[in-house]
Amino acid sequence: LDPSNEHFSPEELDVERKLRPLSFNDFTGQDQVLENLQIFVKAANLRTEALDHTLFHGPPGLGKTTLAYILANELEVGIKVTSGPVLDKPGDLAGLLTNLEERDVLFIDEIHRLSPIVEEYLYSAMEDYKIDIMIESGPNARSVQINLNPFTLIGATTRSGLLTSPMRARFGIQSRLQYYKTDLLTTIVQRSASILKAPITMEAAIEIAGRSRGTPRIANALLRRVRDFAQIKGNGTIDIKIAKFALEALNVDAHGLDEMDNKILSTIIDKFKGGPVGISTIATAVSESPETIEEVYEPFLIQQGFIMRTPRGREVTEQAYKHLGRVKGGVQGG
Ligand code: ADP
Repeated sequence: LDPSNEHFSPEELDVERKLRPLSFNDFTGQDQVLENLQIFVKAANLRTEALDHTLFHGPPGLGKTTLAYILANELEVGIKVTSGPVLDKPGDLAGLLTNLEERDVLFIDEIHRLSPIVEEYLYSAMEDYKIDIMIESGPNARSVQINLNPFTLIGATTRSGLLTSPMRARFGIQSRLQYYKTDLLTTIVQRSASILKAPITMEAAIEIAGRSRGTPRIANALLRRVRDFAQIKGNGTIDIKIAKFALEALNVDAHGLDEMDNKILSTIIDKFKGGPVGISTIATAVSESPETIEEVYEPFLIQQGFIMRTPRGREVTEQAYKHLGRVKGGVQGG
């Protein structure tokens, strides 16, 4: 259940699509972000202009792609979807851009992974709705400027730190998505269960939500697995007993922490006496990049009260010791 795992089978992708909220009203949480977006969309619709270019950043599975689709729906325009690693030649991008109708949305996932050439090419498209394309080849080759329809670029990134500053500066709207609290995830689990026609009790929904690492994608994935247990080992209804049984069997951490979360906590405790320790030292010790630790793992661990930021570095809390079954300052067991 790696939150960054996007490699779903076709059936899983189909379910993903079914569970995806399609309008502002359907979308749970991220209130501040949503309130602002609603205003910007209303204004753009009123003026029949393209919405300003919009950047969503935040950890995987929190709803960046979902929001891009919602924006296109609410703007009543079409959407074309691609991603940074896929767009490796300016020609690919030109093909997409010239096919956009007025006010359409172009969604680029993992926008921090665009190649520098493609990125540069995007600048004039974003700024003046113009691109230069090469026509013919050999001695007759020349570049011609083409006007594009006004469009909205929506970029998503898990790693805003890796975005170049000229790129970032071209987004008029920038929103950071936060991890979801358990009550919001409970609502999302209940909504998904009703779409999947899987009866679920309140208690079971809370249990699944609490173990989902603050992430709707994980909540939906856990719900689907627990539903399997309810159908095969129970009577079809997802109650607290079957939910607990299934989550145990699936080896899901009581707080929804994943392997890397736990590795970070145990490393700070075992190698650095609980901290304080600097982010790059932690990163080296767990073989991850400091940016990923800072942008993907740490925000959740801080939000859940497992780690504190201090002027001298990161420190684990009592709760982290408790979670890992360790004794602070004591003999370290397993
Ligand atoms: P990201 O692009 O940030 O990785 P997605 O937008 O693909 O995340 O969201 C993953 C899944 O989680 C979606 O299929 C959607 O069903 C669900 N989801 C995300 N945010 C919400 C939300 N606020 N309410 C309900 N479901 C959500």
